[in-house]
Amino acid sequence: YVKEKLNSFEYMLEGFDEDWISTSSNSRTVQYTNLFPGEYTFKIKSSNSDGYWSNVNSYNIIIKPPFWLTYQALILFLAFLVLVIYLIRKEMKNRLRLKQELVTEKVNRERDIKLNNEKLRFFTNISHELRTPLTLILGPAKQLLEESNENSSDYQKSRFNLIHQNASRLLNLVNQVLDFRKAQTGELKLKVSKTDILLFTTNTFDSFKEFAFNKQIDFNIISEVEHLFGWIDRDKFDKILYNLLSNAIKFTNKYGHVDLFVKLKENDENTLVIEVSDDGIGIPLKSQEKIFTRFYQATNSKENNTGSGIGLSLVKSLVELHKGTIVVESKPNEGSTFTVEIPIHRESYSKKEVFEFISNKEISEPETFVPIKRKTTNTDIKDKILVIEDNTELRKYLIDYLSAYYKVYEAENGEEGLQLCRKIKPMLCVADVMMPVMDGLEFCNELKNDEFISHIPVILLTALSENEDKVKGYDVGADSYLVKPFDPLLLKSVIVNTIKTRLELKAKFSDEVESEVGLLTHSPIDRELMDQVTNIIEEHIDDVDLTTNVLCQELGMSSSKLYRKIKELTDLAPNEFIRTIRLKKSAKLLRSKKYNVSEVTNLVGFNDPLYFSRCFKKQFGFPPSKLLK
Ligand code: ADP
Repeated sequence: YVKEKLNSFEYMLEGFDEDWISTSSNSRTVQYTNLFPGEYTFKIKSSNSDGYWSNVNSYNIIIKPPFWLTYQALILFLAFLVLVIYLIRKEMKNRLRLKQELVTEKVNRERDIKLNNEKLRFFTNISHELRTPLTLILGPAKQLLEESNENSSDYQKSRFNLIHQNASRLLNLVNQVLDFRKAQTGELKLKVSKTDILLFTTNTFDSFKEFAFNKQIDFNIISEVEHLFGWIDRDKFDKILYNLLSNAIKFTNKYGHVDLFVKLKENDENTLVIEVSDDGIGIPLKSQEKIFTRFYQATNSKENNTGSGIGLSLVKSLVELHKGTIVVESKPNEGSTFTVEIPIHRESYSKKEVFEFISNKEISEPETFVPIKRKTTNTDIKDKILVIEDNTELRKYLIDYLSAYYKVYEAENGEEGLQLCRKIKPMLCVADVMMPVMDGLEFCNELKNDEFISHIPVILLTALSENEDKVKGYDVGADSYLVKPFDPLLLKSVIVNTIKTRLELKAKFSDEVESEVGLLTHSPIDRELMDQVTNIIEEHIDDVDLTTNVLCQELGMSSSKLYRKIKELTDLAPNEFIRTIRLKKSAKLLRSKKYNVSEVTNLVGFNDPLYFSRCFKKQFGFPPSKLLK
């Protein structure tokens, strides 16, 4: 303690330092900062100025670990980790499941849509198939019904009636499926025309009277107005009414009531309101919104309903196409009321949808057969007609039916038809559109491009009523188009009319000053030929020596071929045709009042005014001088 300044110390922390550490003379403190938890022994010894070392003093030091380094903390931490992993996994699993569900849902939906479309396609194809046999049932049934009037018993008549009625009903169903398909694919187009709506509705209503009567249902049509005119698509409107009325009667028990109200919307002259109400079985609330979806049938009606669940879905599509609305109000066991509202003002529809004129033919029965007299043909010789149809039964039936009026030839497909056509040159061809080997469209196309037979009119028959097909048909030059099933009577009147029109056109061409030769050509190839012929004649019109031979030379055509072609198209021999053109030209010149008769005689290649006048009078029925007055 004497020379305190010369004292020295040495220390060591056992467990941390490896050796003794001596302190410097001016610092007497020791500091340890980053010691790990654990047990240590701090040793210290000192010496005085003489270098005499004391005993070692030692202190036990325990450094306790912080909480987070304890076992408990570790366990807690591990537990926490496990929990977090568990939660993350669970969340991931959840998400995966959701995703999978979504995918399955999507796949299911796509499958449903595909299935539905397949179903529809199947229905549609079947329906097309059904149309041909239906033609074969409806046609003969109608025929039997017509023939039965005088000489058959009431029993027979009622049987025939039954066949006809049910075949018609079947046809309606088939058409419904086809319409439904079209509605689903957006192919239906609106075609509104001015209509006596009340009369039209009453007609449809009447067709249900018997059905209602059989079930002893009190069935009424009620309207506050006497006349109701408006713009509607008759076909669509009829289908809407048909479905609503048939449902109402179907789902109403015996002795029930079904009413059809027709009125204008209150405060809105331009909206038609149709209400079909019944006191039948009604529709449960939870089904009400679903009945307008396809293939849905409410549980209330399952046991006695043989329907397909497409009726109301079609109705809704049709109402919406018609820019209208449909709602249902119903209570089980009390009845249902369907209310349809559609605009009937012309302005509600676009130009494309408005049809100013729909011929009565579309709503009334086909016109009855009026035999026509041909000018040039002996009535004993029947006109030749060629029927090309692959379905043997339908072909036989048509031949059977038409043979009473025409000499009918048959072919099984387009190719056969074409060959036969070239051979026999029929007055007209009736061809089915869908046929093996060569279909009707191709047949028609080939025919219209073959100069030997291009003048022959073609009537196409098809099961497809789509407009597109009609357009295709007309594009290839078809003269008419009939949709199966058709009334044979209708086919006959179309044939008669087509032939009649052709003959009338020919007569008109010869007899009238005004009519042009273009009227007589029905295919581009014919048109071209006739244009050439008339051009040549007009170029040489003042030439007295213009004869058939000149024409043949200029056209590079044999005289027999030219004769045949001109005869077929105009019913005139070439020299008659030349004369007709000359006379028509003379009439034009006379009418211009610039020339007198003898001048005109020269201008159109006649050499004698007297002879010219005689020919003129014979052709047009009046003397040339009349045109000068
Ligand atoms: P379908 O009559 O072929 O079954 P619809 O689409 O016409 O198909 O009708 C769908 C369903 O709506 C029917 O199955 C029936 O359950 C119900 N329904 C339709 N109209 C009536 C009605 N007037 N009264 C009671 N239920 C009806």
